[in-house]
Amino acid sequence: MKTPKRAHLRLEDSPGEEDSLTGPVEDYLKAIYEIGRGNVSVATNDIAQKLSLTAASVSGMVRRLAGQGLLSYERYRGVTLTDSGRRAALRTIRRHRVIESYLSHALDYPWDRVHDEAERLEHAASDELVDRMAEAIGEPIVDPHGAPIPSREGLMDETIHLSLADLGAGYGARVVEVSDDDPEMLRYLGELAIVPGAELIVLAKAPYEGPITLRIAGTKLSIGPALAAQVMVEPLSDPDAPAH
Ligand SMILES: [Zn+2]
Repeated sequence: MKTPKRAHLRLEDSPGEEDSLTGPVEDYLKAIYEIGRGNVSVATNDIAQKLSLTAASVSGMVRRLAGQGLLSYERYRGVTLTDSGRRAALRTIRRHRVIESYLSHALDYPWDRVHDEAERLEHAASDELVDRMAEAIGEPIVDPHGAPIPSREGLMDETIHLSLADLGAGYGARVVEVSDDDPEMLRYLGELAIVPGAELIVLAKAPYEGPITLRIAGTKLSIGPALAAQVMVEPLSDPDAPAH
């Protein structure tokens, strides 16, 4: 166990390959982390889908990254990040989410426009710049979409939340996070007031993938299960007392 040492290890102190990773490599590691929630094995097909690449090009890159010690690959089990791959992934995720937060809080960007900017800047910004951005806006712990921001030490809240589609009728919940990569969807969710922190109650849920009816911010509305699956929630302890 090397926990105490780890706790004091700043990301920028970790020597070696992280310092020279290219943008595409950072994108791979980030995608693998996000699909596998940091520790589950990931199928190469899922990586290909997330990055909009062919399975063949993903296989080639996976072999290369395994050779660099960033991940391990077993034929029938898939891809798992090594400690150094995981550290590099969290470092990129921190940069992305701090940049999104800075654009939103300091520069008043709307929440549907920060992701694309951050996708580009996350590979260019230094850790010092990112740390200063975080400091300037009060060290936020979540980004504008509710996703947790890894700490400077590389610690990350890995709580797995239910989605709104998982809730049954009668349940109250608070929105904690929404998927961030579809600007149109974010604008729509914003119009419906389905944003992190909002409280809602599920009034009815039609069977066979039918619509989910809910009350949120005093308004009754229906959304489809595919959209509801993109909204992560935290059930409220008293289902009879949601916000209005
Ligand atoms: Zn984003």
